[in-house]
Amino acid sequence: MAGTSVDTPPPDLARTARRAVDRGAWTPRVAVLGAGAAGLCLGIQLRAAGLTDFTIFEKSDGVGGTWRDNTYPGAGCDVPSHMYSFSFASKRDWTRKFAGQPEILEYFESLVGRYGLAPHLRLGTEVRAATWHDDRACWVLDLGDGSEFEADVVVSGLGQLNRPYVPDLPGLDEFEGPVFHSARWRHDVALSGKDVAVVGIGASAIQFVPPVAAQASRTTLFQRTANYVAPRNDREYTRREQFVLQHVPGAQRVYRSWIYSKLEFRWLLMRRGSRLGKVLRQRFSAELGKFVSEEKPQDALIPDYAPGCRRVLISDDWYQTVLRPDVDIVTSGVDRVTATGVVDGDGNEHHADVLVFGTGFRTTEFLAPLRIEGRGGAELSEEWADGASAYLGIAYPGFPNLFMLYGPNTNLGHNSILFMIEQQVGHVVQVLQRMVVERLAAVEVTAEAQARFDEFVDRAVARTVWAEDCSSWYKTDSGRVTNNWPAPTVAYRRQLRHPVRGDWSVRPR
Ligand code: NAP
Repeated sequence: MAGTSVDTPPPDLARTARRAVDRGAWTPRVAVLGAGAAGLCLGIQLRAAGLTDFTIFEKSDGVGGTWRDNTYPGAGCDVPSHMYSFSFASKRDWTRKFAGQPEILEYFESLVGRYGLAPHLRLGTEVRAATWHDDRACWVLDLGDGSEFEADVVVSGLGQLNRPYVPDLPGLDEFEGPVFHSARWRHDVALSGKDVAVVGIGASAIQFVPPVAAQASRTTLFQRTANYVAPRNDREYTRREQFVLQHVPGAQRVYRSWIYSKLEFRWLLMRRGSRLGKVLRQRFSAELGKFVSEEKPQDALIPDYAPGCRRVLISDDWYQTVLRPDVDIVTSGVDRVTATGVVDGDGNEHHADVLVFGTGFRTTEFLAPLRIEGRGGAELSEEWADGASAYLGIAYPGFPNLFMLYGPNTNLGHNSILFMIEQQVGHVVQVLQRMVVERLAAVEVTAEAQARFDEFVDRAVARTVWAEDCSSWYKTDSGRVTNNWPAPTVAYRRQLRHPVRGDWSVRPR
């Protein structure tokens, strides 16, 4: 790869690129992996930029990603609805403060028609591998049907939460009843009057356990680590509120900005040793201490780590549910599964007719199980053997013309991930516009830029609460935080506003 850097782009890059495209300039063929929020966002912005030679590959037969996969009872967003749409495609008629999964999925599905994405979608098509051909400066994708697809640029929109994790518990095969993961909910399994065991209590479980416990005869929760659960204060919008948000000019924008600022303020909680964290911890301990009993012991209710170290959850019915007499909470772990139940770490067997896993996702194996081979045969999963990292979360040296959306170190504990995706999409589109304007065959982030970024992440993470002693899906087994962005989102926006020229090496066409 030539290490040359081209001169500063014109300030009106978007317009210059558009003019070039309209005059028939070469534009890259772009393969987008995944039709979730990120893939759709990119599709919309590519079209807006006139870069219409793109295909969005989606394994399942519909769009919406995580919102298509997660249909469990009570599924919904813990980011306020009005902050959970793209700024350029805002939805003003959300029915509640925290939208449920069907309404969110409907929003993402509506984008297909609204932005003309249908001709670009290849649903039911899995991408299994991507190989860079340096001589031709292109990627060749291996598709699930055995065919190949050639693209100049590949953008992954696979995100961090797409592969359900089910622990390999001894005896699991012997269980006689239905077993399923929260992201693969079996709606055909009636839970009414059944004994239900739930293994893993995180953001998903605190949403599905209340409706499950309301139907089940007995619900047994196998919870390894207690969570901080704050009130959600969810409710429907009144007709008057809906009217104002939909019809008063600027009202929704102001409301959205207010929500964004409020969420951004929570960054304070993510800082190591924060005063806010200490106050919250004391308050939680004092409040929950009132409910501690022999059946619901302290370790079941009160976390032993600082708030924010794991995601702070929100719910209006979690503690009422846990305190129900027909809900047991087991903190000694799972020893094994039997034909008719689960044996806990103390050797007690708990009867179960149905076993549900709320054990989350394989979050640190970014892009797996896709095999991605870059320049010189380098394999991305091998490069990331000690934990994934990527320049700004979007690119990695040795992998030209490959971009990631919601990649390493871009998850948040305090604000909307759609905001992050929008910044990434804006950045990637600018890089592609440069490829058009400057007639570039390939762009690749430099090793120096990557090293600088890694250093920044390491330093910044050390100042966050995630670096403290708690288990979370933000970390690899060795304790490296590979998932979260370690600064306020405004800082991310600033860093992604324009591609930094010297951080990329380029090859002319
Ligand atoms: P999660 O928060 O990672 O929770 C998984 C739970 O399973 C953890 O508490 C973990 O315990 C437990 N676990 C793992 N292996 C276990 C084992 N062998 N035995 C017992 N427990 C085990 O996963 P999630 O609930 O699916 O949520 C993941 C993320 O999805 C969330 O943090 C959030 O970002 C997103 N999400 C968002 C929403 C939303 O409203 N926007 C809703 C749902 C999910 P340990 O912690 O002790 O390992």
